[in-house]
Amino acid sequence: MSAEPGQGQGFLSDVSRYFERAARHTEFSPGLLEQLRACNGVYRVAFPVERDDGGIEVVEAYRVEHSHHRLPTKGGLRFTPDLNQGEVMALAVLMTYKCALVNVPFGGAKGGIRIDPHAVSERFRERVTRRYTAELIKKNFIGPSLDVPAPDYGTGEREMTWIVDTFQALNPTQLDAYACVTGKPISMHGIPGRREATGLGVYYGIEQAMAIAEDMKRLGLEPGLAGKRVVVQGLGNVGYHAAHFAQEHGGAVIVGIAEIEGGIHAPDGLDIDAVLQHRRATGSILGFPGARNIQPSAEVLELECDVLIPAALERQITAENAPRIQARIVAEAANGPVDPDGERILLERGVLLIPDIFLNAGGVTASYFEWVKNLSHISFARMTKRQQEISNRRLVEMVEQVTGKTISAPERKILTQGPNEIDFVYTALEETIAIAYQEVREVWKARALPDLRTAAYLVAIERVGNCYLSQGIFP
Ligand code: NAD
Repeated sequence: MSAEPGQGQGFLSDVSRYFERAARHTEFSPGLLEQLRACNGVYRVAFPVERDDGGIEVVEAYRVEHSHHRLPTKGGLRFTPDLNQGEVMALAVLMTYKCALVNVPFGGAKGGIRIDPHAVSERFRERVTRRYTAELIKKNFIGPSLDVPAPDYGTGEREMTWIVDTFQALNPTQLDAYACVTGKPISMHGIPGRREATGLGVYYGIEQAMAIAEDMKRLGLEPGLAGKRVVVQGLGNVGYHAAHFAQEHGGAVIVGIAEIEGGIHAPDGLDIDAVLQHRRATGSILGFPGARNIQPSAEVLELECDVLIPAALERQITAENAPRIQARIVAEAANGPVDPDGERILLERGVLLIPDIFLNAGGVTASYFEWVKNLSHISFARMTKRQQEISNRRLVEMVEQVTGKTISAPERKILTQGPNEIDFVYTALEETIAIAYQEVREVWKARALPDLRTAAYLVAIERVGNCYLSQGIFP
């Protein structure tokens, strides 16, 4: 795994160090480990786009496919002004291990375009996204059975719509064209729950970790998220939804929020939805009624709390600030938010670190459901909802007959209603995250590994390596 000199080596070398640490615990040959390290395909492209003033702008973009052990490859598309090749390679590697951990049948990939999405017009973003898609099509770097992008930092449903529309226009006979990208809006054959899936998965993952009394006792915490103080960095797709579910479903108290413009602190709790409304209305989280402003924003990470959720970007916790982190649990919602030196200090101080490749895998899990739905050309609930309702109603009637009691109308409604598509997505997502956590924790304990990240990488590396061993090499 190496990028060109100076090209995002930091993040890539962080991921390589995590990989090497876990790979030592496998019995794989040096050659197989080399194959697991290598990015199978790296595509760098520069293309011209018309600026709003009629001029030409040359835009740099990437798509990296880390592992072809399963196809299609899968991974988000990010827009950032300081994007580089090493960063995209690191993110593609993480995707391979993430997919393996939650047992979704994809290899890992990632894409990126070097633009500041907030500094350009929507029309310009559309031209860039469509041209990027066309470039990927030319090189076979996109397609339902090849490589399937999704939202990531700086992108969302809008960009996914432009991608699928461009793909379909240039592949008019492809029946499965909608499966070329996930994270689409419902109107474009997306799936309910995908928008919030990564943050929801982060919440489910934290709940899983905090339910284990033995692990919480070691941290000096009572089990469960309810009443615990939470700080979140990044109020974007992942951070907002993670904090929203932690507050609304988990009963957590959000005491601090960091955004790019600064941070806010309120020891008695912040209403996450009100903060989001305030930011939408004023353009900033600063000045939120009842909260103290914090500048610079990074100081929010050091607030007193039980759970810290970095959900913005990589390399936010390093050897520089790790000694001042007060949280007992650091929950990596972003990709790579803690670098290895920062991690060493946190672990020495007894912090429980829930690793990114497990914790933010909810997004790709829901993307998998969306992809399957697109290939099936039918919604998950369509064939079962009414049948399930009939069956539930019969059961309720039988209970009434046997007991001689009448179930009230509101109770009857709850008991008899069949599942909607979103119910399938939420429950399957929770089950996936729960199983993955149990598997990782079991390996952590059974093989006496130093930390959860090493265990998560080991589980994933062994799955991918065994897949290569069974397949052999062809041609
Ligand atoms: P996003 O663009 O929706 O939101 C990111 C937010 O972080 C923005 O509001 C931005 O202003 C803020 N931010 C940037 N730098 C910051 C800083 N220094 N301090 C505080 N806030 C800062 O992006 P997202 O989709 O929520 O992605 C966030 C992270 O989660 C990334 O690491 C991404 O790779 C990872 N991730 C995203 C998904 C997904 O489905 N979107 C899935 C898995 C992992």
